[in-house]
Amino acid sequence: MGKLYCSEVMYRCANHAVQLHGGYGLMKEYDVERFYRDQKLLDIGEGTSEIQRIVIARHIGASASSELSETQFDVIGYSLLVKSL
Ligand SMILES: Cc1cc2nc3c(=O)[nH]c(=O)nc-3n(C[C@H](O)[C@H](O)[C@H](O)COP(=O)(O)OP(=O)(O)OC[C@H]3O[C@@H](n4cnc5c(N)ncnc54)[C@H](O)[C@@H]3O)c2cc1C
Repeated sequence: MGKLYCSEVMYRCANHAVQLHGGYGLMKEYDVERFYRDQKLLDIGEGTSEIQRIVIARHIGASASSELSETQFDVIGYSLLVKSL
């Protein structure tokens, strides 16, 4: 859950950083361009976000074909994460 949460926080941060920089955010001369590319590895490496959600769903007793929406699932996952901190 920590990996899933942190990778998605980094996505939001990197995405906003590129947006704030405008065109410069896509140029190699600026670090934000690399941050934006690098964050994708966190989404994919060592278990993609989709697979992480399936693993967490199994741990909380929901099946992989759960009828929970992604938003409901995020709320459950993140509240479990907050409780575990
Ligand atoms: C630069 C890099 C470094 C890596 N380093 C490591 C490492 O150090 N250790 C390691 O173990 N692995 C590493 N990997 C491998 C990485 O964990 C895999 O790429 C990842 O598990 C996805 O597998 P895949 O590429 O075969 O994609 P697929 O399994 O083919 O997945 C493709 C897409 O489909 C989605 N998907 C697949 N199955 C489901 C499903 N049942 N439900 C919903 N969505 C699904 C995935 O989330 C993904 O978005 C690395 C990959 C890269 C690119």
